[in-house]
Amino acid sequence: MLFRRLLPATAAVAALAFTAACGGAPDDTLEGKARDGRLTIGIRFDQPGMAQRRLDGKYVGFDVDVAKYVAGQLGVPESGITWREARSADRERLIAEGGVDFVVATYSITEQRKERVAFAGPYFQTGQGLLVRFTDTEITGPAALNGKRLCSVANSTSARKVESEFAKEVQLVEYGQYSDCVTGLLAGNVDAVTTDEAILAGYVAENPELLKLVGEPFTTERYGVGLSKSDPKGRSDVSAAIERMVATGEWRSALERNIGNSGVRLPDPPEVTEK
Ligand code: GLU
Repeated sequence: MLFRRLLPATAAVAALAFTAACGGAPDDTLEGKARDGRLTIGIRFDQPGMAQRRLDGKYVGFDVDVAKYVAGQLGVPESGITWREARSADRERLIAEGGVDFVVATYSITEQRKERVAFAGPYFQTGQGLLVRFTDTEITGPAALNGKRLCSVANSTSARKVESEFAKEVQLVEYGQYSDCVTGLLAGNVDAVTTDEAILAGYVAENPELLKLVGEPFTTERYGVGLSKSDPKGRSDVSAAIERMVATGEWRSALERNIGNSGVRLPDPPEVTEK
């Protein structure tokens, strides 16, 4: 009986010893996954400046550069990265189900999301803004949205904020991704688009004669790298990588390279608090 009870514990110790002998971390941690030189990372495909899949199949943007830097610090070269689209509504599920190893996708750190995923960082700070057609003279800020059709994306922090704080009579339209909202705005199907300024500024930079930002940013969004809750070492490794990206100057040059000409004020790096 005693022997039987001891057996599982002995097996667990043996498994740990085996893992250690083979070079460390279990396979379901970031460290373990990076060991074979490959990682799957969730990003956006349609946010110019932040993360975009170009027609030639290349991925470019600030989030992409942060993801590549973090992967590099974990020992994974760019050639070992598989990029996977992580839209607003899918991020928690992709992380929790292991569809991606981590997410760098304009992903605000919130207490509610922390119930399902962990965050490293933050690595960037922005605020919610408002995008309208260049010819619009009526919508000057979020309080002027009553009776207007406002587009945002399901499971983002953005949509409900306007309804709850500024314009009770706004008509919310939710699409799957912000580029669809922008298409809807240009086509006249919606009157405004709301999400983080850093995202909206990328669309303005692509179409400055058709789109403009109005009003001042009205929230604070701190972007984190989302990853599994069961990997605290992974979280501290990613936070250490972000701190290193800032300290080496790579963070600033990636920011300037990707959103330097989009017209938004380039922020200073936020203090890394999720360790
Ligand atoms: N940063 C906000 C969020 O995580 C809005 C941008 C997005 O949907 O990716 O909800």
